[in-house]
Amino acid sequence: MRLDKFICKSTQLTKAEAIERIHAGDISVNDAVIINEATQVHESNTVIMDGKRLIAREFRYILMHKPAGTICSNIDEVYPSLFNYLDVENIAELHIAGRLDADTTGMVLITDNGRWSFNITSPNQKCSKVYRVGLSREIAADVAEKFKAGIKLQGEQKLTAPAILTVISTKEVLLTITEGKFHQVKRMFAAVGNRVVSLHREAIGEVTLDLEVGQWRYLTKDEVASFV
Ligand code: URA
Repeated sequence: MRLDKFICKSTQLTKAEAIERIHAGDISVNDAVIINEATQVHESNTVIMDGKRLIAREFRYILMHKPAGTICSNIDEVYPSLFNYLDVENIAELHIAGRLDADTTGMVLITDNGRWSFNITSPNQKCSKVYRVGLSREIAADVAEKFKAGIKLQGEQKLTAPAILTVISTKEVLLTITEGKFHQVKRMFAAVGNRVVSLHREAIGEVTLDLEVGQWRYLTKDEVASFV
């Protein structure tokens, strides 16, 4: 990881403070003073500040059941931030791997490991996300085929990646997608003349939501590894 990030993860310094200390020549990596904050360091490197070796904290991997009316942002805006439900330290270091809209409920993964969240959010990684969708109109018979083939969303050139539709009842379906375009599920149903009235994410990859609304827990080692 970058040297400034390493310092943030091993001290209480903010990013700006870490950069200031690096530019001041206060940090050495394997006995050499480093003044470029973008220098890549590994946990096995010896990083010294104020005569002490810095040890980066472990990455964190959190599962949360997002309530309706919260936003996937680190700060409160029109709606309160989801992070209000999370009582852990250094919240500013965390980000959400695949945001949900304010009115969407369900499974959210939160981490401070950008490489890991890339495995979840990058369409090339084909990580599945399962949504339970409530619809305003009855689901038409040809929608499953259309979603499987890929459809064109308004304002997009490329077709959506193949998606799996499972009908639960006339107005309720499960949709499995591997992408995360802006408002993707709502736009997919709009493209076939329907409207999403409720949206809940039940699973990401092999991990399913097993928490009550507003609760959170750390992922197990196996769950973390399932996204690598
Ligand atoms: N697709 C949407 O339209 N909204 C979400 O919150 C998630 C997926």
